[in-house]
Amino acid sequence: ALPADQVSKRVLLAAPRGYCAGVDRAVVTVEKALDLYGPPIYVRKQIVHNKHVVRTLEKRGAIFVEETDEVPEGATVIFSAHGVSPAVHLEAEARQLKTIDATCPLVTKVHREAVRFAKEDYDILLIGHEGHEEVEGTAGEAPDHIVLVQNPDEVDDVEVRDPDKVVWLSQTTLSVDETMETVRRLRERFPALQDPPSDDICYATQNRQVAVKQMAADCDLMIVVGSKNSSNSVRLVEVALDHGSQAGHLVDYADEIDEAWLEGVSTVGVTSGASVPEILVRDVLQFLADRGYEDVKPITAAEESLLFALPHEIRRDLKARD
Ligand code: SF4
Repeated sequence: ALPADQVSKRVLLAAPRGYCAGVDRAVVTVEKALDLYGPPIYVRKQIVHNKHVVRTLEKRGAIFVEETDEVPEGATVIFSAHGVSPAVHLEAEARQLKTIDATCPLVTKVHREAVRFAKEDYDILLIGHEGHEEVEGTAGEAPDHIVLVQNPDEVDDVEVRDPDKVVWLSQTTLSVDETMETVRRLRERFPALQDPPSDDICYATQNRQVAVKQMAADCDLMIVVGSKNSSNSVRLVEVALDHGSQAGHLVDYADEIDEAWLEGVSTVGVTSGASVPEILVRDVLQFLADRGYEDVKPITAAEESLLFALPHEIRRDLKARD
């Protein structure tokens, strides 16, 4: 590597990056609920998988709980963007909680597919990560019909009742390439495997990965802003490394960047996961600018304009107030 003062320094900034329509809707749902009903507002699980978002909402009076039994009877609880199983809705009803469902409509779409294929008695091969909240919610729609497949290596162990009646569905925030590999291997074993009616990996996950792929080979280092429990953010680091970035790191905040990562580095790629507020990216750009990386070039893979309406409870109560 060249000495630091001889390296030409620049940043490639991915677009799209950061908030997707589902995250924006979920965060605004909590904010509006705090405005409308006053604190405390309970939220089951992290509303979106981002440390900063959760901390900020906590300061405003949101209380994050793991399960509905931690919510006082009769209180308001918001379900997170990742979705919940029907059992959680029933538990909340039994405790007479007032519920607001901030499940991303693109997750709800996968739930509906699961219900429909289960009704038609398919075995559903759900590609996703065990223990992830979204997978628990989707699997809960059809527990007797779902077989979880986490990656291509697990394909050989999959067992189904009728190989002619299988369909695959997936978590919305996976690596597109790895998922396609899993599907390819599944189809080798089950040639009659049906595809989902439309892409389950959402537009936001796909676009963020496409942007990273376009710039990775030019990057000596990729900095992905995002939390460790954010599936789509973790995938962005993997995609960067798979497509030629020399190094890649996930950080929640700019101050987590280790100066040693920048030694001899000419081009730094920057992006952020779908649950990450832009302010955190701006902090990273400032950190880099302070160290000579002032030249910032956007790499735009797609334009996004999708917006989702807020949950109907919030829309109704906003209307009643105005
Ligand atoms: Fe919805 Fe995709 Fe955003 Fe998840 S990442 S909240 S599925 S738009």
